[in-house]
Amino acid sequence: MRTLGLLVALALPLMSAPAADSTTTVARTANDRPAVVGERVIGHSVRGRPITAWHLGEPGRPGAARVLLIAGMHGNEGAPRGILEALRDGPVLQGVDLWVVPAYNPDGLAAHTRRNAHGVDLNRNYPYAWTDLDGSYESGPGPASEPETRAMMRFLRRIRPHYILSFHQPLNSVDTDTKDERFARRVARYLHLPRSSLTCGGVCHGTMTGWYNHHFRGTALTVEYGAHPGRVRMRRTAPTQVLGIFGAWRGRPGFELVPGTQPEPALAPSVLRRRASPWPRTRPPRPGGRWSHR
Ligand SMILES: [Zn+2]
Repeated sequence: MRTLGLLVALALPLMSAPAADSTTTVARTANDRPAVVGERVIGHSVRGRPITAWHLGEPGRPGAARVLLIAGMHGNEGAPRGILEALRDGPVLQGVDLWVVPAYNPDGLAAHTRRNAHGVDLNRNYPYAWTDLDGSYESGPGPASEPETRAMMRFLRRIRPHYILSFHQPLNSVDTDTKDERFARRVARYLHLPRSSLTCGGVCHGTMTGWYNHHFRGTALTVEYGAHPGRVRMRRTAPTQVLGIFGAWRGRPGFELVPGTQPEPALAPSVLRRRASPWPRTRPPRPGGRWSHR
């Protein structure tokens, strides 16, 4: 019953909180999707489709990492969306304060295109090291020109995750060009992915991870699966592996463990407190290089 009491305590302030902007939060009943403790429309796409963030796990649990998982930033990289949906639609989650955005670029996903309905690559549109790019990596008429970009920026400023994983395809690796090497190694190990440098051939312009890593204390990391990772891996294997990264586990009301699962050692957000200065410590990169991935 402890879990139920926690959920009620969390849900009440969410229900009564006034909407400061276009976002809304509603409490879910325990029977609908038991893992879900909240749901928020963080903005809308160019075509007016809602971009929904689902709140899972145990917000407010002492020591729990605050985590955001993002999938579907590129509409032709749809497989990892299955990981986030499986977590959302599965059993109660414990040991983590988790948000998931399974369909960040809903117009692109509907059209199976990398870019949004304006033809802009959202992962080149963020206002960090933005530059004017064309073609597949069209960066838009200016930094943060796209409603999807602005929606995510607003959301990230509000929740300030300790850790963000941004799921893509098809490079089959975890980025080693990262703010937190130890975390990247842990992610690669748990997800059974190799590590490689996803540096856009030298410089990444206007990426979400670059913007977040530069302006916030938390860590944002790109995770790339292969072109065809398989449904079982996305829906069954990887969700459990993701929970392990953050020391989280599937449970039942009453804090019982689901048989066969064990909580991993927690990845404490305390490591963030030791980081004094923002990353990277160098100047934003100059335009140049090639852009062959992400
Ligand atoms: Zn991508």
